[in-house]
Amino acid sequence: MRYSQLLLPTLKETPAEAEVVSHRLLLRAGFIRKLTSGVYTYLPLGLAAIRKVEQIVRQEMNRAGAQEVLLPVVQPADLWIESGRWVKYGPELLRFKDRHERESCLGPTHEEVITDLVRKNVHSYKNLPLNLYQIQTKFRDEIRPRFGLMRGREFIMKDGYSFDGTEDAANATYNKMHEAYQRIFKRCGLSFRAVEADTGSIGGSFSHEFMVLAETGEDTLAICKSGNKAPSGEICNYAANMEKAAGQPPAPLVSEPQLLPLKKIETPGKRKVQAVTEFLGIAPQNLVKTMIYVADGKPVAVLVRGDHEVQPVKLKNMLGAVDVEMADDKQAFGFTGVPTGYLGPVGMKITVVADREVTVMRNFAIGASEKNYHYLNANLGRDFEVSAVGDLRMVTEDDCCPVCGGELEFTKGIEVGHIFKLGTSYSEALQATFLDGNGKEQFFIMGCYGIGVSRTVAASIEQNHDQDGIVFPLPIAPYQVVILNLSPKDEQITQAAEDIYQGLLAAGVEVLLDDRDERPGSKFKDADLIGIPFRVMVGKSFTQEGLIEIRRRDNGQSISVPLSEAVDNLVATIRAELNELSA
Ligand code: ATP
Ligand code: MG
Repeated sequence: MRYSQLLLPTLKETPAEAEVVSHRLLLRAGFIRKLTSGVYTYLPLGLAAIRKVEQIVRQEMNRAGAQEVLLPVVQPADLWIESGRWVKYGPELLRFKDRHERESCLGPTHEEVITDLVRKNVHSYKNLPLNLYQIQTKFRDEIRPRFGLMRGREFIMKDGYSFDGTEDAANATYNKMHEAYQRIFKRCGLSFRAVEADTGSIGGSFSHEFMVLAETGEDTLAICKSGNKAPSGEICNYAANMEKAAGQPPAPLVSEPQLLPLKKIETPGKRKVQAVTEFLGIAPQNLVKTMIYVADGKPVAVLVRGDHEVQPVKLKNMLGAVDVEMADDKQAFGFTGVPTGYLGPVGMKITVVADREVTVMRNFAIGASEKNYHYLNANLGRDFEVSAVGDLRMVTEDDCCPVCGGELEFTKGIEVGHIFKLGTSYSEALQATFLDGNGKEQFFIMGCYGIGVSRTVAASIEQNHDQDGIVFPLPIAPYQVVILNLSPKDEQITQAAEDIYQGLLAAGVEVLLDDRDERPGSKFKDADLIGIPFRVMVGKSFTQEGLIEIRRRDNGQSISVPLSEAVDNLVATIRAELNELSA
């Protein structure tokens, strides 16, 4: 492609609306333009990067035995009513009526449609396993679309669904998808991590998220950094999303201390953990906080150690609730009649649950459920009861790996992929069955597998950029090479640039020729901004010394080679690097 003909509207100024670096750079580099909130047009370079990701995804899905289909974007409400999600999915589902008053929606995901397809067309165990995927535009009416392609309302996703006849076969499919995802993100040239993810309240299932590691990520990951041998004999590689991450269970007490008498004490105006514990002269580890949550409309009091925080997803799973949120001060007062800060479990009328750490605490401080008062020497079992105990808190970096006991480390990540063993929840809801080898009717065992294709491009920029612009990993760069003709008026230079361009095209290299009548400085700036991995400069050093400079965008290293070697050198380097990633 010749730059002079390319629709590439780069911007000098940073657009004010962009908060994160990928959004800023995608706009500045002329990759995307916003149409309306969370909805973007992909310009040629933006689309090229997306297509590169798609191609890798497609190849690896096909290699793993999945088949590509393309499902409709518009879906009838009936199917969603059948699965129960017409109500449950909430306002993220964009609904509308057609001219016949039929309720429909724009597909945010396709479990219903694919299950419907399979129940109507697959009837025997002989047709299993079956693994189908598509790459398509999705619509989710996100409450806060933001960060450009990271969280759009309209975005491109690869979604895949598997159908198996037995648990073993379903687990094997899941593992195959796990491997395919590892290969996909490696081949994209990204630094990433697969982490254990929350599976919600559907028991017995498992799930992994694939996280691109980047400081700007919205998710926090807890990763074991011990390098210890896990009980399995392999090096421990525990990694989990914070929603799921656990520490070691609390160590049992070495000896039972004497239980002291409960003592009410005035703590005027002391509501926060720090203020209360300083006032009482105790450590936060000797205080239990009482937090009020609302689970599906009902209040619940959650007890955690003073220095710990409740993890709402863990709470949601323990309660089997659909929706869990922390109550605000006003709601909490409405439920308990006590101002927050002084709440405690003694005499509490609403359901009380406790984090497991509280069970090994003795003689601790708690709110007295009376304004300006706390209790000292409270004890679970003697002074109050709880209706359930479990792991309900966020892990901290002081926690130890639940697998090997080693040190945990926190890192930020961006979720680009998610694999999920669904089991039979959808096939049961939609009555999707097949006949097994004994002629018995069985529900399909399903899995689903998503990749945010457009988000992957944004995440690659969050991970790879510098002050001058994008630094694309070679496999997903819109072009592999950009040739800068630094003197378009000079015939010799122009001819050399043209020769390299033709040579690279003939060798199948994706190449952009900057043939514009612009100063070298602005060509350098644009080349850096758009992040093409290899920059070839044809200028004075060619006319004076016969040399062409090839510069890498990632580490700035450059070499000078004679014109006759430029094409071969680039082709060899590009091949070697791509081969290494796909090995
Ligand atoms: P999130 O927690 O970020 O909302 P999700 O759990 O809703 O993600 P899935 O339903 O698992 O996401 O969708 C599969 C993949 O689609 C995600 O891993 C992510 O990469 C991508 N994705 C989801 N929502 C968006 C969005 N609003 N914009 C861009 N990509 C998205
Ligand atoms: Mg979501």
